[in-house]
Amino acid sequence: MNYPLTLAQIIEHAHRIHGDKQVTTLLPDGTLHRYNYTALYKRVKRLANAVTKLGIQCGDRVATYAANTYQHLELYYAIPCIGAVLHPLNVRLSPVQLAQIIHEAEDKLIFVDSTFAAQFKALQSKVECNEVINFEPMSADANTLYEQLISEAAPAYTWDIRDENWAMGLCYTSGTQGEPRGVLYTHRSVFLHTLAVNQTDVFGLTEADVVLPLVPMFHAMAWGLPYASMFAGADIVLSAAKPACIATLIAETGVTVAAGVPTVWADAYPELRDRKQDISTLRRLIVGGEAMPLSLIEAYEKELGVEVCHAWGMTEMSPTGTFSKLRTAHQSLSDAEKWQIKAKQGRPIPGVELRLAAETSNGFTELPWDGKTIGELQVRSPWTANSYYKVEPTPEHFTTDKWLRTGDIATIDANGYMQIVDRAKAIIRSGGESISSVALETALLKHPDVCEAVVVGIPDEKWGERPVAVVVLAEQADENISDILKQQLTSEFSKFWIPDKFVFVDEIPKTSVGKSDKRAILQMFAPTLNG
Ligand code: ADP
Repeated sequence: MNYPLTLAQIIEHAHRIHGDKQVTTLLPDGTLHRYNYTALYKRVKRLANAVTKLGIQCGDRVATYAANTYQHLELYYAIPCIGAVLHPLNVRLSPVQLAQIIHEAEDKLIFVDSTFAAQFKALQSKVECNEVINFEPMSADANTLYEQLISEAAPAYTWDIRDENWAMGLCYTSGTQGEPRGVLYTHRSVFLHTLAVNQTDVFGLTEADVVLPLVPMFHAMAWGLPYASMFAGADIVLSAAKPACIATLIAETGVTVAAGVPTVWADAYPELRDRKQDISTLRRLIVGGEAMPLSLIEAYEKELGVEVCHAWGMTEMSPTGTFSKLRTAHQSLSDAEKWQIKAKQGRPIPGVELRLAAETSNGFTELPWDGKTIGELQVRSPWTANSYYKVEPTPEHFTTDKWLRTGDIATIDANGYMQIVDRAKAIIRSGGESISSVALETALLKHPDVCEAVVVGIPDEKWGERPVAVVVLAEQADENISDILKQQLTSEFSKFWIPDKFVFVDEIPKTSVGKSDKRAILQMFAPTLNG
């Protein structure tokens, strides 16, 4: 039977088969809002009618400016399932960047969560979209416009997505290396991504899971977890604000799988290690967005008994590309050897194709998968974009045979484990040789006095660029720490790799999605670092 693959099938299945499963939201006042899939489903149907009545038509873009809440989850289904395009705005971008994005997307309507109402005011005067609906995550207050819309709307709605290639969502990259770029997803691409990540050897979510996406719902559709969780019938826990105590949230809701960028897990670790709460339900972390340091993987697995699964992906890939799990053949390895493998970004998930390429005068040549040869990582899959929103594909981002050039430099070993060496733009070129900032950061983090480390390339007259390490130290670090770190790196790397300088700071600047912001570091420290 050949009929469109759509998100309507996901919400219908969730309601019919898993209607009693829970959606719990940690509200900004610290209380928990709970309801089940069927309650969500009924509100989604009313919301679909309400949004249609507001004049939203097939293909129109509808933005959200919101935290992770049950209302945001309702919009995740209601907007695409009427044929419109959900556009979650990154609330941490500047008003100028957002105004530009909203202008490009031509958003017809914006749903604003009251947590960000004041912040949104600074933006509102800059955007052309006049239609704004506020909602209040603190309570299901019937007086708010959002609740009024839902209560006054008709309860029945018949989904009618006639073509699986209709766009369902629009996300912008987080802008780590430049201005954010828009990526459109279709019903088909998200449906297939959902099936792929729900395989046992990928996210492996089951009906017994309680899933906590700590990744914001504006970051690559919360890595597809809202759809994957509900198709699997897992409970979902959303956190509208940074939890005051993540251990309490896990203990109160029985979280089994949690997902977020490495910074989230570095921050949470001391609290989880103290074990003041029972977090024994937590079985797995899904970590991506940037490299998870080996030392942190080891800490979670060894000290907390929580399995760490490293994932790599991109907004352009919906976002999952690879997933790092051990093979049966690895079971006889020592723990240290196993963590080395888990620190790699992993193997392509079923449906994703990878290749390593080197640019030649007339295109690209493929490089071997030997775990050593470094090349440009290129990908394709049914859930990878073939262009950026409103931009014709350019050779900078897409090859002539239609593979995505990821902008990452990597190795792939004979078993298909991919390891990111660096982003092409972050790699340090010194005296004509390449230095991987990621490899140096990973090595620095092995020292117990180092809490955070970022290595950047500083312009140098003689060598082109030289590495400088920017480090956050633990309290009471050794006073000769620069020399100690230099010595430690010397045992692992060639002399020219060793950073010329170590700068100690209280905090590493982060991007809008919590990645280390190397561009900001270069700007902030440029005068100091050069001196
Ligand atoms: P941006 O490029 O603006 O940060 P994305 O959030 O889509 O936007 O980031 C995708 C990029 O993030 C990848 O190309 C890669 O450089 C990096 N990345 C994602 N996951 C990992 C990972 N597990 N390890 C290392 N880098 C990662």
